[in-house]
Amino acid sequence: MVADLKAIGINLTKTEYDQTRIAFGHHIGGSVDGIIEGGIPGAEGVRHIAEFKTHNKRSFDDLIKKGVHESKPIHWGQVQLYMHGTNIERALYVAVCKDDDRLYSERIKYDKGAAEKLLDRGRRIALAERMPEPISADPSWYQCKMCAAQEFCHSSKLTQEVNCRTCAHSTPTSDGKWACARWDADHVEVEHQVTGCHAHVLHPDLVPWDRRASADPNEAVYVIEGQEVRNGEGDAFTFSSRELIEGREACVSHLVREAKKVFPDAKMEAKDAPTVSTESD
Ligand code: SF4
Repeated sequence: MVADLKAIGINLTKTEYDQTRIAFGHHIGGSVDGIIEGGIPGAEGVRHIAEFKTHNKRSFDDLIKKGVHESKPIHWGQVQLYMHGTNIERALYVAVCKDDDRLYSERIKYDKGAAEKLLDRGRRIALAERMPEPISADPSWYQCKMCAAQEFCHSSKLTQEVNCRTCAHSTPTSDGKWACARWDADHVEVEHQVTGCHAHVLHPDLVPWDRRASADPNEAVYVIEGQEVRNGEGDAFTFSSRELIEGREACVSHLVREAKKVFPDAKMEAKDAPTVSTESD
């Protein structure tokens, strides 16, 4: 797409590995696909940001019928934020249909009010202590169908991820960092966030279980199938987050609980049926 636009005389810069990165703080940011210094037919002297998207046939047909604002409001909001962040008041949105290589382009004007509203909303959500309600209670709602969290919101209600961002001890801060209350750290390095640590506790918004008060601030107590189960630094009485995710039925099994008392370093492993491994890691 970059080559095609250049071939018709568009002065397209800052693409691919040289993209402009925008950071608004509060964990909100992104990379602009390109900066157009000029050369768009009919608007030769006007700077634009460039945004490239691929669509399947159904999505592409809807886009050409309704335009970006109505058909792809998330993309429209994204380019508004990029224009806001770059102080460039026009965007060129270029879409390609994956099924038949058709192209669609649309120039979009900057809407300052809309961009500021989106930023405010993003900041509120990013720093909120609790997860917002799903956009719809209906799993067949079109936005839910396209969302990576659909299975979580409408079915399991249980995260599959064990990292700092799913941990009850972590807090996103307004300077774009993640703090950890367990280790009294103002900033957990990104490399470490990806794996988290053995003290991980599942965030209560990311599990389907009720939470009970815990005497230990480093643990959570969840009620699973009517039984209280401790989640935290795995020991004889406490299950790690990974154990809870992979073998929650086993965590309430009398046999497993008794085995854990005898082998406190044992870890449960997810197989066809949950089992207990006595090898410490
Ligand atoms: S306790 Fe561990 S997993 Fe949780 S936020 Fe701190 S470092 Fe990350």
